[in-house]
Amino acid sequence: MKWSRAFINTLRETPKEAESISHKYMLRACLIKKLGAGVYDLLPLGLKSLNKVTAIIREEMNAAGAQEVLLPILSPSELWQESGRWAKYGKEMMRMTDRHENSWALGPTHEEVITDLVRSQVNSYKQLPLNLYQIQVKFRDEIRPRFGVMRSREFMMKDAYSFDRDEAAAMATYRLMFDTYTKICKRIGFKFRSVDADSGPIGGNCSSEFMVLAETGEDTIIYCENEKCGYAANMEKAVFKKPEPQTAAEEPLTKVHTPNIRTVEELAAFLGKKPEDTAKTILYIVDEKKMAGAVMRGDREINEVKLKNALGASEIRLATPDEILEKTGAPVGFAGPINLKEKGIRLAIDETVASLKNTVTGGNELDYHYTGVNRGRDYQENLVADFAKAVKGDTCAKCGGKLNEQKGIEMGHVFYLGKKYSKSMQAKFLDEDGKSKEFEMGCFGIGVSRTVAASIEQNNDENGIIWPMAIAPYEVNVIPVNVKYEEGMKYAEEIYKKLKDAGIDVIMDDRDISPGVKFKDSDLIGFPLRVVVGEKNFKDGKVEVKLRREKDFALMDKAEVFDRVVGIVKKEKEIK
Ligand code: ATP
Ligand code: MG
Repeated sequence: MKWSRAFINTLRETPKEAESISHKYMLRACLIKKLGAGVYDLLPLGLKSLNKVTAIIREEMNAAGAQEVLLPILSPSELWQESGRWAKYGKEMMRMTDRHENSWALGPTHEEVITDLVRSQVNSYKQLPLNLYQIQVKFRDEIRPRFGVMRSREFMMKDAYSFDRDEAAAMATYRLMFDTYTKICKRIGFKFRSVDADSGPIGGNCSSEFMVLAETGEDTIIYCENEKCGYAANMEKAVFKKPEPQTAAEEPLTKVHTPNIRTVEELAAFLGKKPEDTAKTILYIVDEKKMAGAVMRGDREINEVKLKNALGASEIRLATPDEILEKTGAPVGFAGPINLKEKGIRLAIDETVASLKNTVTGGNELDYHYTGVNRGRDYQENLVADFAKAVKGDTCAKCGGKLNEQKGIEMGHVFYLGKKYSKSMQAKFLDEDGKSKEFEMGCFGIGVSRTVAASIEQNNDENGIIWPMAIAPYEVNVIPVNVKYEEGMKYAEEIYKKLKDAGIDVIMDDRDISPGVKFKDSDLIGFPLRVVVGEKNFKDGKVEVKLRREKDFALMDKAEVFDRVVGIVKKEKEIK
C-alpha cells in the first residue's frame, strides 16, 4: 500500500472522548471512529489488525478440530424462552419487535441458537464430538460502554460451542480449548495469565479466563507468588486459606451502649479490640424479593459475586436504609446476626466469621452492639459460605504461599457448561447403549475487538502504539525521507515491491511532506519495523532499519536490507 492512497487520517490531538491509552491511540491512529455510544466504525488499519487476530484464531481453532459456522445476529425470542434466559438476561440483551409483532434478540451470545442447530441435526453418538465456532458481531447493551472497542456495545467475538457424549469427553474438549487459547495468546504476543473464573449468567461450573496483563485492566487477578503453585483467579472467584477455628472459652453475651460509633475501626478501638475480632452484618435484597443478612469479619470486604452464588440468587443489591429500618427496626449500620432469622431474614455467615469466638456484632438497635457473641449459642445461621474478598497478602489455599494482586483485561473465556442448555432445550442424542442422553456442552469465547485494544494497552509508549509483528496492520513502513530525491525514491520503490512480493505486509510512505511528520505518524500507528531511505546515508550506500520498540536504528548496506528485514519479520512472529 502506498500511503498517499491509504485511508489514514491521523490526529495530532487526543479526542476528548478517549478514556484509556488504547482508546486514545486507536482514535488518533485512525483505526476506529465513533459512530454512537459504544458503537464504532472499524477503519482499514483497525480492520487489518483485527483480521490478523481472526486469522490466528481460525488457524488454531481449525487445528483443534473445530469447524466454522456463521449464525444470524438476530435470534427468535422463543429459543431464549426455552432456556429461560429471555426473562433472566436483563437489559444487556437488546430486543426488538418485527412488523409481525414477533420478538427477537440481537445475539449477545449464541448458546441457544447453536443448541437449536445441533439438536436438529445431531442424533447419534457417532456424530460426536462436535465443536462449532463462528467469528461474528455480538451486541450487548452494556450499561457503561467505555474504552472504545474494549467495552463497546457492538463488537466482534469468536464463540465456539462444543458437544460431547459425557463429562469426561467434555472435559477433554475443555482442556483442548484451554491449550488452544494458550497458543493463540502466545502467537498474538500477549503477556497473559489464565485464571479461575466465575461462570456468571452463562452458567456451568468450571471456567477460566484468559487475562492480558495490563495496569489499566478492569479486572483484578489474585495470584500466588509461588510460581510452582501457579494458583491464579479472577477476584470474583479468588479464594484464600481461612484461619483455624478459635477455641477460647465462651464469654457471656453482653449488650453494650456504643454511642457515636460508626465504623468498624471506631468500634474496635472503643471496645479495646481489633477489627478482626468483630463481625459486621450487611443486609441485601435478593432477587428483588427477600432480605438476607451477610455476616463478614470486621476487617474484610464482601465479594458480592461469591455471595450471590452462595445465596443461589440471580441478583443481589444492598438494602436501602428505609428497607433496613422497616425490616429490622434499627437504622442502617446496627444490624447483627442475633434474632435476625426470627425477623424473616436469611442469614449467611462467611467462613472467617464461623471460626470466631466471642465476637462483637451489631445490636439491632441504634447505638448498641453485642460482645461475647458466639455462633450456635447466640444465633444460628442459614448457611456458612466463603464470600470474602481475597486480597494481596492473604495465604494461598492451595500451597500456603503468599497471594498477590495484579490488573488484567479479559480477552477470552472458556466454560464447561455441562447440560445446562441441552437439558432446558431438550437437546439429545442416542448413545452407543441405545439410551437417549443430553449433550455435554462447553463454550469458548474470545473478544476479537477487545484483543486488538488489549494488545495496544500492553504495547505502547508516549509516541504511540508498538504493535507486535503478528497483528500489526502493516509489518514494515518504508520511508523515503525526501520523495524528490530520485535515487532514494527509486530504491524505496524497489525494496517496497520486493518485500511485498515476498509476502511481507508493507506500506510505503510516499507522501511529499516533512520527514518529521512521517516519523511521527509511523510511531503513532506503531508499525513494528521501519526502513528509512535518507539522502545522506544512501549516498554512502546505507539505509536505516529500526524496530519501533527500540531506541536505536541499524545502518545496513542497501543490498542486505531485504534479507535482513524478511528475517526480522519472520523471527518476530515466532512464538516465544
Ligand atoms: P466482561 O466481564 O468483560 O463483561 P463477559 O464475561 O461478559 O466479559 P463473555 O460473555 O465471556 O464476556 O464474552 C467472551 C469475550 O467477549 C470476553 O472474554 C471479552 O473478551 C469479550 N467481550 C465481552 N463483552 C465485551 C464488550 N462489551 N466489548 C468488547 N468485548 C467484549
Ligand atoms: Mg459482560
